[in-house]
Amino acid sequence: MTREELKHRVDEAIERHADEIVALGEAIRRHPELGFKELRTSALVETKFRQLGLAPRTGLAITGVRADADGGAGPGPTFALVGELDALVVAGHPEADRSTGAVHACGHNAQIAGLVGAAIGLVRARAMDRLAGRVVFMAVPAEEGGDLEWRLDEVRAGRLEFLGGKCELLRLGHLDDVDLAMMIHTTPRPEDGLTCVPGSNNGRFGKTARFVGRAAHAGGAPHMGVNALYAAQLALAATNALRETFRDEDTIRVHPILTHGGSQVNVIPGEARLETYVRGRTLEGIRDANAKVDRALKAGALALGASVEIETLPGYLPLRSDRTMTRVFRQNADTLFGPGACREAGHRAGSTDMGDLSQVIPVLHPYMGGARGTGHAADYEIIDPHLAYVMPARAMAAMVVDLLWDGASGAREVIAKALPGMTRQDYVEFQRSVRRREVFQGDA
Ligand SMILES: [Zn+2]
Ligand SMILES: [Zn+2]
Repeated sequence: MTREELKHRVDEAIERHADEIVALGEAIRRHPELGFKELRTSALVETKFRQLGLAPRTGLAITGVRADADGGAGPGPTFALVGELDALVVAGHPEADRSTGAVHACGHNAQIAGLVGAAIGLVRARAMDRLAGRVVFMAVPAEEGGDLEWRLDEVRAGRLEFLGGKCELLRLGHLDDVDLAMMIHTTPRPEDGLTCVPGSNNGRFGKTARFVGRAAHAGGAPHMGVNALYAAQLALAATNALRETFRDEDTIRVHPILTHGGSQVNVIPGEARLETYVRGRTLEGIRDANAKVDRALKAGALALGASVEIETLPGYLPLRSDRTMTRVFRQNADTLFGPGACREAGHRAGSTDMGDLSQVIPVLHPYMGGARGTGHAADYEIIDPHLAYVMPARAMAAMVVDLLWDGASGAREVIAKALPGMTRQDYVEFQRSVRRREVFQGDA
C-alpha cells in the first residue's frame, strides 16, 4: 500500500462516520463549559476514545484527556493532535448557557469533533499498523482566558499554577514525550478562505489590579472617603492615553475590564477591581507595554490617594508556526480543497497557549472555515458542519499519515529543521518569573 492509498482509506473511514462526528460537534455546542470546568465535555471525549479501543488518561490539568496509539512500523517521534474543550462567556449570544453564560463562540466544539474524527479515521482504517512512532489524541482544557478571579482562587488553593490548559499540561509533564503537535481552529473570517496558516500570534501577560480607598457616606460625608472607583477610572483613562505610544509593529492589545466598581450606591466605593491582558508580538513589546500599564494603574491610585495592588500573571507566549509542518499542511489542503486553497494569514493579534507549546516543540495552528459572524461575539455560529467538524479530522489525519509514514521520516525532518526552542524546564521557570505582586500606596 502506498502512502496516498492509506490516506484515502483513512479519509473514507472518516466520511463513513461523518454523521457521528457532526453529532459530537453539535452535542458539545449545546453544552458549553468554561475552562477547567469542562467535565461533561471531557467525559464525552473519554467515551469516544474508549469506543475506539483506546485507553484514555483523564483528569490531566483537571479536565484534559489523552489517548495514545502506537505505530506498528517501528519507533519514531510522538505527534500530538490537539483539541480544546472550553467555551467562553459572551453576553447576548442566543446559545449562551443560562446559568454560566458559556457559549461556543470560538468554535472549540469543532476542534473536539475534528480531534475525535481524526482518531476514528486512523483507528478504524487501522492506519497505525503502517505508521511509525506514536500519535497522541489530546483534548485540552481552558484555552480561553477570563474567569480570572475563579482561576486565581484555584491557584491559591493549589489546584492550578498557570492559568491556561496547555501551560498546565506542560508544567505537569503531560506533554514531556510529545515531539510535535498540531490543532485546527475554526474561523468565521471570510478573508481566511477555506483554510489558512498564520505566521505568528501575539503573546500576552495577564494582570489584575485592586484599588483600595476608604468607604464613607456618599451623601453625608463623601469628603471622608477615598473613591476607589474613580482611581480605577483614571487608571483606565491613563491606559487609553498610552495607546499612541505603542508601536504598530508590536501589535500591542490592552483591553481592561472593570470587574468590581463599588458595593452600594450610598457608599463611596472603598474597593474597585480591574483585570486586563497586555498582548504583543514579542516578549520585549509585551514587557514594554506592561510597564506602562503599571504606571497608569499607579497614576489612578496616586490621584485619589488610594492604594493599588497589582498582580502580573503568566499568560501565553507568542505563537510561531513550524515551516516544515506548514509546507506539508499546504500540500494536504491542495488535495482536500483544491490547489492553492491554503492562504497565508500573516500575524494575528489574538493569543493562544498553543504559542507556549510552539516555544518548546514544533507546532502548527491552522484555521479552517465553516463558521460565520465574529469570534467571541454574539453572532458567531457554525453554518457548514461538514467543513467545520469533518474536514479538520481529515486534514489532521492526513498530517499523521504524512509525518509518520516511512519510519516517520516526515516527523524526523520537522524535528531536525525546527527552530531551537526552550526546554520544558526553561518554560516553567520563565512563566514563574512573570508572576509579580506589587502594592503602590498613592497616599504615602
Ligand atoms: Zn477564543
Ligand atoms: Zn479559540
